[in-house]
Amino acid sequence: MFDVIVLGGGAAGFYGAIHIAERNPKLKIAILERGKEVLTKVKVSGGGRCNVAHAEFDPKEISKNYPRGERELVGPFHTYCSGDTMAFFEKRGIQLNIEADGRMFPATNSSQTIIDCFLQETDRLGIKVLKNSSIIGITTLDGNTAKGDYSWAIKTIRNTYQAKKILVATGSNPKIWELLRQMGHTIIAPVPSLFTFNIKDERITGIQGVSTNANIQIIPSKVNNGKFKAALKKYSIQSSDLESEGPLLITHWGMSGPGILRLSAWGARILNELNYNFSIKINWLPAYHEEGLLRQLQQIKEIEGRKTILRTKAFDLPKRLWGSLVKAAQISDTDKWADISKIQLQNLAKQLTGSTFRVDGKSTFKEEFVTAGGVDLKEINFKTYESKIHPGLYFAGEVINVDAITGGFNFQNAWTGAYIAAQAIAKP
Ligand SMILES: Cc1cc2nc3c(=O)[nH]c(=O)nc-3n(C[C@H](O)[C@H](O)[C@H](O)COP(=O)(O)OP(=O)(O)OC[C@H]3O[C@@H](n4cnc5c(N)ncnc54)[C@H](O)[C@@H]3O)c2cc1C
Repeated sequence: MFDVIVLGGGAAGFYGAIHIAERNPKLKIAILERGKEVLTKVKVSGGGRCNVAHAEFDPKEISKNYPRGERELVGPFHTYCSGDTMAFFEKRGIQLNIEADGRMFPATNSSQTIIDCFLQETDRLGIKVLKNSSIIGITTLDGNTAKGDYSWAIKTIRNTYQAKKILVATGSNPKIWELLRQMGHTIIAPVPSLFTFNIKDERITGIQGVSTNANIQIIPSKVNNGKFKAALKKYSIQSSDLESEGPLLITHWGMSGPGILRLSAWGARILNELNYNFSIKINWLPAYHEEGLLRQLQQIKEIEGRKTILRTKAFDLPKRLWGSLVKAAQISDTDKWADISKIQLQNLAKQLTGSTFRVDGKSTFKEEFVTAGGVDLKEINFKTYESKIHPGLYFAGEVINVDAITGGFNFQNAWTGAYIAAQAIAKP
């Protein structure tokens, strides 16, 4: 028998258990973890470096990085945000370094530092960590709560435990979602988020490794315009949500990089509905639109007439990409500016500001991937992270329908939810 049982020994589960114990050291707390190891996702996170958080300290601004949860998280971030995460780790002797793009990593650049910290803390605070304890049943013992008796029974493959309050932090686990569904919660169907786009196209063949800043827009493919529009409406997505500007990386399989990953997160539901068959329109020179660029190209043609187009460094673009787009505009390797026709110049302006690529499928982004979906946010009180359906049942982390773009925001969701739930759980 425990006062509190935390379901799931991952990021949110550990953070929650530690804060419950800190707030109320008298409570008897257990973490139940199905695996033989805990914190396995933390271990592999951020390519083994663990991107713990992001240096965005404004609650409204940080919430804009959550395609699901943007509105609901503003309040919680006012209570607990990235600065608090930094303070938590600093208090425990772990310095977090901020990189140029805002991502925060432990100074050791090793996720093991975070794991060691959590394990030391659970040890110090007397929290029981029960591994190999796969949860197969969650039952309320409602009738006895008035007498102050234990009100939850948690069945694992080995034992049944009882607790007054439970914190569900089982991440994207379908079995737990099914149990919660049977208990009356609505589960938004899970779909992948944070993935890269598979593209086979001559323009990017042989130039993998090229990276540049671009404006990328998801558009329907020639055949699924109707389905695309219907999906936008169904999920109340604005077409502006499906446009992003940021670094784009050309890979062996297609395209990746923060600009693409951002779109994969915002488009997670609609792209799933389209079976990952859609198109993207890329402006490789986001400072220009097509007409303005055409005027600029005409000026270059007048001034640099005797120069070979391929060799001209006209714009801040990687050389190999420039070569590829020049070729796609039907301009040969030896053509000089003075030689090319108006049509070729127009083609080049089009390629540079609005190349269209067909996407056919997705690949996993190995540094970080998450699932969109989970417990419907309408059924959670975001002041306490308590279920609106079952008193005494709290949530934290990826189990709820919140997910973010890459950059440390997914962990911040786990830390914030776990902290707030812990304060409510530990309250006498
Ligand atoms: C490869 C990879 C890299 C990532 N890198 C980053 C990063 O650098 N920065 C970032 O912000 N986010 C990152 N993420 C996302 C981040 O890891 C998750 O958002 C975060 O771990 C969610 O925490 P959680 O506690 O909700 O779930 P989890 O960390 O998944 O923990 C859930 C725990 O519950 C346990 N569990 C599940 N079902 C049961 C059951 N039935 N019984 C008992 N236990 C159960 C699981 O075994 C697990 O230990 C990454 C994800 C991946 C996959």
